Amino acid sequence: MHLSDHILCQLDETYVQALDEARLRGLSLRLLEDLKEARERLRQNPANSSRPPSSRAPWERPPAGDEEPSDDAEASLPAQDQDAPDAASASPEEPPDPPETQAPEHAASKPEKPKRKPGKQPGAPGFGRTQVFKAHETIIHRPETCAACAEALPADAPSVAYAGFQSVDLQWGDAEQPGLHLRITDQRFHDTLCGCGHHTRARPGEGRVDDPTLEPVALSEWRLVGPGLATLIVALHLRFRMSRRRLREFLHDWLGLSLSVGTLDRTLREAAAAAAPLENELIEAVVASELLHADETSWPQGADLLWLWVFTSATVTLFVVAKRGREVLDRLLPGFTGWLMSDGWQAYRHLPQRLRCWAHLTRKAQGLIDSDDREAQAFGHQVQRAFDTLIGAIHAARAGPPVDLPRLHAELLAELHAACVRLLGHRHAKTRALAVELWNDWDAIFRVLENPQWPLTNNDAERALRHWVIARRIMMGTRGEAGSRAFTLLASVIDTCRKRCHVPWLYLAGVIAERRAGRAAAPLLAPMPGL
Ligand SMILES: [Zn+2]
Repeated sequence: MHLSDHILCQLDETYVQALDEARLRGLSLRLLEDLKEARERLRQNPANSSRPPSSRAPWERPPAGDEEPSDDAEASLPAQDQDAPDAASASPEEPPDPPETQAPEHAASKPEKPKRKPGKQPGAPGFGRTQVFKAHETIIHRPETCAACAEALPADAPSVAYAGFQSVDLQWGDAEQPGLHLRITDQRFHDTLCGCGHHTRARPGEGRVDDPTLEPVALSEWRLVGPGLATLIVALHLRFRMSRRRLREFLHDWLGLSLSVGTLDRTLREAAAAAAPLENELIEAVVASELLHADETSWPQGADLLWLWVFTSATVTLFVVAKRGREVLDRLLPGFTGWLMSDGWQAYRHLPQRLRCWAHLTRKAQGLIDSDDREAQAFGHQVQRAFDTLIGAIHAARAGPPVDLPRLHAELLAELHAACVRLLGHRHAKTRALAVELWNDWDAIFRVLENPQWPLTNNDAERALRHWVIARRIMMGTRGEAGSRAFTLLASVIDTCRKRCHVPWLYLAGVIAERRAGRAAAPLLAPMPGL
C-alpha cells in the first residue's frame, strides 16, 4: 500500500485540481495500485490466503459442530515454562504497538472462557513497561519524498515529530572493550510538509510474515527490544537453555532491564518469524549433502508425543519436529543423492545409499555377551571380534595406501554371514534379532569397507541432538505446531552457523533488523574456507 489513512485524508478535490499533469499521473498510478490491492484483500478468505479460520466473520463460519480446529494464539503458543498468563501477543492487524502498550490487557484470550477476564486481574501487579531510560542518542526519522507528489523533500522542509519510542539495543563487547553494553535510543518520527501542501510521515519499517504455520506476530521496527538485544534473548533461551522466567531475572539483575515475559515471548517469536525464509536454504543444503547423518528423539508437543529429527552434514544442521514415519524423509529428502548415516530404523530402509552406525551394533553384541545364554554369548563374542578387527583395519586403511578391505577380510565376513543365517530362527530373542538385523542390512552395514574414509558411527547426529535433549526437560517440549516450528527454525540457524564456524548472533541480529525493515533476510553465511 502506498497511501496510508493519514495521506488519504489530506487528498481532496482542491489538492488534486491544483496538481500539474505529471504529478497527477504519478498519484493516479499509486491510487490505482492501492485500489487493486485493496480489492484483492477484500476477496481474501481462509481458503485462499494465510488468514486464520478464526478471522472469518460470524456469518462466514461453518455451523456449530463442524468447526475447524481452533488456531487461536493461546492454543499453539510455544511452551512457556508456565509463564503464559502475562504473555502479550500482537495481532498482525494491529498497527505497530509501541512498547508502552505491552501491558497484559492485550493478552490473547480464548473466547470460550468468559469467567476470568483475560489479561491482568484487578489488583494484580502489572508487568507493563515502567522503565524510562536516559537516552544515549536521538534518531530522527524524516520522510525522504512526498507521498502524494513524489518530489524529494528538502532537508529544511517544515518538520515536526508526531510519534516516537525508546529502543534498547545491545552493543557487542570485543577484545578492546569487553562487556555487555546497552544503548538507549530515542526514535523520533517526523511529519514533513511538502511544497505541494501535503504532509508526509516517516514510518517505522514493517516486515511481512507469510508463513501460516507460525504464530501471528508482526515484524516491526517499532520495538523496545532492538535486534542485538533480541538475539541475546534468543541465545540465552536456546543456547543457554534459560526459561523465560530465568531470562527475565537475568536481564533485570545483570543488565538493569525489566522486560515482561510477554515481551520476551514476542521477541522470540519475532526472531523465529524473521528466520523463517531461511528454511528453504537449510533444506537445500541438507539435500545437497554428500554425507548426511540423521537421528531422532522423542519430543512432546502439547498432548502429542512427536519426534525431534536432526539432519546434519559437514556444513548444515536442520531440526524438524514431526511424526515418526517416512513422511518427514519423503518431504525433506526428495532429490537427495548422497549417503545417509542412520540407525537401523525401518523408515530409513527405502533410501538406496545408506551407512549404518556401528556403535549401535557393537552395543547389541555386548548385550549378548552379558546375557545368560551360552549360544548368545558365543555369537556376541563373534560379532564383537569381527567388528574389532574391521575397525582396526579401517583405521589403518585411513592412514595408509588404498587397500581392498572387503577382499582382505572376505573370510571373516563369510563366517559372520553364515552365523547370521544359522541363527535367523534362534530361540533366544535378542540373538535372533541381531542376526536378522545384520543379515537384513548387510550391505549398508559393511559398505564402509569400500570407503574407509566414511564414518563408523552416527555420533555427529547424536551430538547435534544432545543439547536439545537437555533443553527438552527445561522447555518441556513445545505447546503446538507453531511453537515447534519457531524452535526448530532458530535451532537450525544457530547450529548451522556454528557448523560453518561463524558466531550465529551477529548474523541473526542482521536477519532480524532486515526483516523488521521489510527487506529480505541475508542468505546464510557460507562455510569458512577449509571446511
Ligand atoms: Zn508533495
